[in-house]
Amino acid sequence: MDSIFDYKLSDMQNYFASIGEKKYKARQVFEWLYKKRVFEFSNMSNISKELQAKLANTFDSSLLILRKKQTSALTNKYLFELSDGNLIEAVLMRHDYGLSVCVSSQVGCNMGCSFCESGRLKKVRDLKSGEIVRQILMIEADIKERISSVVVMGIGEPFDNYDNIMNFIRIINDNLGIAIGARHITVSTSGVVPRIYDYANEDIQTNLALSLHAPNNILRNKLMKINRAYPIDEVMKALKFYIEKTNRRVTIEYLLLADVNDTTDCAKELAHLLKNMNVYVNLIPYNETSHIEYKKSDNNQVMKFYDNLKKLGINVTIRREFGGNIDAACGQLRASEVEK
Ligand code: SAH
Ligand code: SF4
Repeated sequence: MDSIFDYKLSDMQNYFASIGEKKYKARQVFEWLYKKRVFEFSNMSNISKELQAKLANTFDSSLLILRKKQTSALTNKYLFELSDGNLIEAVLMRHDYGLSVCVSSQVGCNMGCSFCESGRLKKVRDLKSGEIVRQILMIEADIKERISSVVVMGIGEPFDNYDNIMNFIRIINDNLGIAIGARHITVSTSGVVPRIYDYANEDIQTNLALSLHAPNNILRNKLMKINRAYPIDEVMKALKFYIEKTNRRVTIEYLLLADVNDTTDCAKELAHLLKNMNVYVNLIPYNETSHIEYKKSDNNQVMKFYDNLKKLGINVTIRREFGGNIDAACGQLRASEVEK
């Protein structure tokens, strides 16, 4: 049975047309789900009993199961169970500008970055659009507040699940639905080059973040297996195309690993690589895990790296540390649960 949450409004309209129903009924159902947050078809009072029954026989409208929740002052971390028993994570972050949610895109990840917990456990399967939509619905129901932005930076490589991610974006961006503005949606990729071109050609004003983490191929090959398939020059070429085409500024994520990629030489090389590009660098303090040998750079080193980039004319920020104490980095909660 299809989940109703996999359907964009236009898909729902097509479905209603296919069963000889009026198109506006689709709009009503969409509003029940996303505006009124009523998920039982039998409670959708402006839908006829007959149609309610038909919908209930055709679509699954169940949410996810909340398996675990960890909270701290600025973050809530959620472990959700999918209908087939697989586990995924999502994180709520409270910023001064609003609430954002980091969603997972796959169960596990096949990219195998050496520093990442999600990549340590191989991909089991892609998430369907509705499973990503429901991460947001679950969190909003839990906190009884509306979130204002979404980042696809949880478990998984979104550009290894491209169609479902784009469908997810269209569903949450729809004004008749959750209505998250495109400019408040960011997709983070490890650098799947062909999909960067596809993303550039989508007719939508969402954001792109690239996980770079190293300024040259020798180092990046060691950290990120994907660099052997799509080396830095190809990634940069794709980013330039994206920026040219969309006129949007790209976020470059750069994780700081002590004595690995946090040296002054790396900062200089990075500045050179990004010179004159419409990007800004977000330095990410590494969240240490018990399984992986990397250490986080100490604060002095982070500040030095930051200053070096600044001096060389690069726009740079340091990501605030969220929830290091509650396993908030990519995939840690799932990994610890799966391995129990
Ligand atoms: N697969 C995509 C999106 C999910 S990972 C990507 O790689 O971009 C989201 C971000 O979390 C990436 O920048 C990733 O490098 C980073 N990350 C992974 N493990 C981390 C850790 N232990 N501490 C801090 N950031 C981490
Ligand atoms: Fe996958 Fe991203 Fe983790 Fe790399 S950093 S293993 S691409 S989730």
